[in-house]
Amino acid sequence: MTEQHTQKRIDENWQFVKQQVRETALSCERDPDSVRIIGVSKYVDEELTRALTLAGCRELGESRPQLMWQKSLAMQDVEPLLWHMIGHLQRNKVRRSLHCKPMIHSVDSERLLSAISDEALLQGVCIDVLLEVNISGDEAKTGFLPDALEPVLVSNNDPGIAIRGLMAMAGWGTDASTARSQFERTRELRDRLQRSTGRYLPELSMGMSGDFQEAILAGATMVRIGSTLFDGVIKRT
Ligand SMILES: *Cc1c(COP(=O)(O)O)cnc(C)c1O
Repeated sequence: MTEQHTQKRIDENWQFVKQQVRETALSCERDPDSVRIIGVSKYVDEELTRALTLAGCRELGESRPQLMWQKSLAMQDVEPLLWHMIGHLQRNKVRRSLHCKPMIHSVDSERLLSAISDEALLQGVCIDVLLEVNISGDEAKTGFLPDALEPVLVSNNDPGIAIRGLMAMAGWGTDASTARSQFERTRELRDRLQRSTGRYLPELSMGMSGDFQEAILAGATMVRIGSTLFDGVIKRT
């Protein structure tokens, strides 16, 4: 495929996803602007990632820290551009990751929270984070168990971070209606935690290519979309 064709296809994919997000939000009487699309670029190289930004997507999600570092260095000329860390982050990768000033969706332990805060203070930044919740109960899934969140929210006062909400993934192989109910449970959990802890938790990061519509219906404020944006450009995995 020529470069021009590739760009055109990614432009179309981006417009398609934007339209779907918009229609889904309107269908449940939500403001379409209340749902941000995080373009998950983990499948593609810098060139295709750049093509996605040219199409108009200015929030990118990576699940591997090293790829986020490399791409953010290579794409410093793209502005504005916000990075989202959506995969497991080891503490020894926090320092370099914070250079990208990402929002971190995948915080799954108090030790990681503190490590992010300590490093943020050293770097003179404040980092927005989400607590990942294992809502499906899959043993293979990372994230806090739902019951573990309240104590964390009550006790945490790390100054270098702002806990902005929750991140969740539907379990492996779930159909649309099961995914929907898991997302609903995540929103209810968030609502309960806001009441019981008095914390403001506006963000719900949930929904991927296969289930973002269910997530929006359940209240997602950020959807993380990868494969649909690169449809026709890379082979689906
Ligand atoms: C890969 C990934 C996505 C995007 O998934 P698609 O199905 O390709 O849209 C979203 N969230 C996380 C955490 C991921 O690892």
